[in-house]
Amino acid sequence: MNTDDYDIEHLQTFLQSCPRTVVLTGAGTSLASGIPTYRDHEGRWQHSEPIKHQEFLQSSAARQRYWARSLHGWPAIRDAQPNRAHQALALMERKGQIETLITQNVDRLHQRSGSRKVVDLHGRLDQVHCLDCDALYCRQQIQQQMTTQEPPRGSPASARRPDGDQDLPEAMEQLTQVPDCVRCGGLLMPDVVFFGGTVPRARVDSCMAALERADGLIAVGSSLQVYSGFRFCRRAAELGKPLAILNTGATRADPLAQYKLTSDCGALLAAVSGLSGQLTGTA
Ligand SMILES: [Zn+2]
Repeated sequence: MNTDDYDIEHLQTFLQSCPRTVVLTGAGTSLASGIPTYRDHEGRWQHSEPIKHQEFLQSSAARQRYWARSLHGWPAIRDAQPNRAHQALALMERKGQIETLITQNVDRLHQRSGSRKVVDLHGRLDQVHCLDCDALYCRQQIQQQMTTQEPPRGSPASARRPDGDQDLPEAMEQLTQVPDCVRCGGLLMPDVVFFGGTVPRARVDSCMAALERADGLIAVGSSLQVYSGFRFCRRAAELGKPLAILNTGATRADPLAQYKLTSDCGALLAAVSGLSGQLTGTA
C-alpha cells in the first residue's frame, strides 16, 4: 500500500491546525469496498454516461434502462462492506474531530461504519420514493417486487457503477418491467440526486453552515468535477479555511488546496486516526 510518510505528516499537521473539520467524501472512498468510481484519474467517464434527471422523468425507455441496470447492480451495493476509510472517519468523529461528514456517495457505508453526523448530499440508494404520492419504500422491497417478475442474472463486475447502475446489453434492458408504486401506481424514483438533478437547498445550506463552524475542509476520494461537491471547496477558500485533498488523481479543486495528498485514502486515514493500531494484523 502506497502511504507516503510525507502524506501522513502533512495530514497530521493539517488536523493539528484544524481540530474540527468538515469532511467531504466521494466515490474514491468506497472503491476499496468494491464500488467503482465514475471517472478515471484524469476525470473522464469510465463507462457510458449515467442516466440524467430529466431523462429519467421524461422517457419511459430511460426509466426501463435505469431499472434494468439497477436490478442487476443493486445487490453489489447492498452487500458492500465498509473499508478502512469509512472506519477511520467514524473513529475521527468519535474523537470529536469531525463537525459534519458530507458524502457524495449514495451507498450508506459511512452510516454502516458508525458515522452519525453524515449528510447524504446526493441521497441514498437504499430508498425509493413515489413521485406521485410521496410514499417511501426500501430499495430491497422493490428488488423483491422486481425479482418475482424476473430472476437477477449475473453480469460482469467490471460493468458495475457507484450508483448501482450497470452497463447491460439492450436486449436484457427491454425485458425488465419498470416497478411502480403499489399504493397509487405512480412513478417510482430512487431517493438519489441524479446527474443533472438538484440537491435540495436546505441540505446545501446545512453543509455550508457546518463549514462556517469548522476549522477546515478535507475532501476525500473525489475528482470534485461535479459542482455539487466542488462548491464546498470554493466556499472554504472564500472563508479562508484550509483545504486538504486526499485523492490519487487530479481534482478540480487542486489549485485551492493547502495540501494535496495522493496516498491511498484508506491507509492514510487509518494512519492518522489511530485506526491502524487497532487493526494490527489486518490489511
Ligand atoms: Zn404512489
